[in-house]
Amino acid sequence: MTEKIWDLIIIGGGPAGITAGIYAGRQKLKTLLVTKNFGGQVAEKVIKIENYPGFEEISGQELIEKFKKHLLKYDISIEIDEVKKVTKEDQIFIVETVSQKKFSALSVIVASGAEPRRLNVKGEREFLGRGVSYCVTCDGPLFRGKKVAVVGGGNAGFEAAIFLADLTKKVYILEFSDKVRADKENQELAQKTGKIEVILRAKVKEIKGENFVKSLIYEDLSSGKEKEILVDGVFIEAGRVPATQFLKGLVDFNERNEILTERETMATKTPGLFAAGDCNEGQVKQIITACGEGAKAAWAAYDYLQKIKLNS
Ligand SMILES: Cc1cc2nc3c(=O)[nH]c(=O)nc-3n(C[C@H](O)[C@H](O)[C@H](O)COP(=O)(O)OP(=O)(O)OC[C@H]3O[C@@H](n4cnc5c(N)ncnc54)[C@H](O)[C@@H]3O)c2cc1C
Repeated sequence: MTEKIWDLIIIGGGPAGITAGIYAGRQKLKTLLVTKNFGGQVAEKVIKIENYPGFEEISGQELIEKFKKHLLKYDISIEIDEVKKVTKEDQIFIVETVSQKKFSALSVIVASGAEPRRLNVKGEREFLGRGVSYCVTCDGPLFRGKKVAVVGGGNAGFEAAIFLADLTKKVYILEFSDKVRADKENQELAQKTGKIEVILRAKVKEIKGENFVKSLIYEDLSSGKEKEILVDGVFIEAGRVPATQFLKGLVDFNERNEILTERETMATKTPGLFAAGDCNEGQVKQIITACGEGAKAAWAAYDYLQKIKLNS
């Protein structure tokens, strides 16, 4: 165990974690924020954000830069790393990372958000980084002038396809069900590009290639036949799953592995452990709700720390 015991460790550098950090900084808590990256899903956002108050239209990257600048006004330590395990021994939380570091704290806020859902099909893992991607802003420019497929016909899939249409020759959107779930505005924008073809009732079976992706095989659920499209890249936008694997035993989960918390304080079943944002159970998963939960969790962590310090 390391010698230093932090008041608070925040896990995650998305809107929930950054807001918790701002609130903790203002309360002068000795805080460490451990995160794989800054911005979380917002930094991946390729089309403008139009529903965060105060900004009629702003890109995800710009908004997150503003969040980060605000956070860095406060005296908060930051560690870029991935948490692999959290345990609690005698009132102290131990946070272990993949680079074998261990940090100790009296309280923890989990704000680890959500990560892309895998398709679990042949070729997905093998061609990751060689044509398969979960991040269109990171990898889209590598496919200039090529043909690509986007798996998922929700808003995320359409936004990815619209972004890719600007760079590539042709974009297929494959959707499992018999209608797309993207909103009308995204559907209209996609149509205007003239480069996007939507394939409904398509179940992806395999991603094929040699060194790099060459094609995608899907089952046409209407005919039951397997079909192949020739593509150089496959972008997977099949929804998100909560990033909560490292918490086993400390919290209760619902059937989707989302953390169950108390509404007002964001407290979990383990005293001193709070959770905020998209990793939690909740209908509305947005930047503003993640920020709100981050603020509530930081307040509750402060209260918790006051109580345990009074009693010790
Ligand atoms: C394509 C897309 C478009 C969207 N558009 C909008 C929109 O227009 N308006 C809106 O309000 N919302 C939008 N959202 C939703 C919004 O992005 C999320 O609700 C919000 O980002 C949730 O914030 P969060 O902090 O809870 O989680 P996240 O943003 O997921 O951040 C989680 C953070 O935790 C880190 N992390 C995860 N696991 C670990 C670990 N084990 N160790 C350390 N760090 C870890 C991640 O690296 C990340 O920094 C969109 C989402 C997507 C995917």
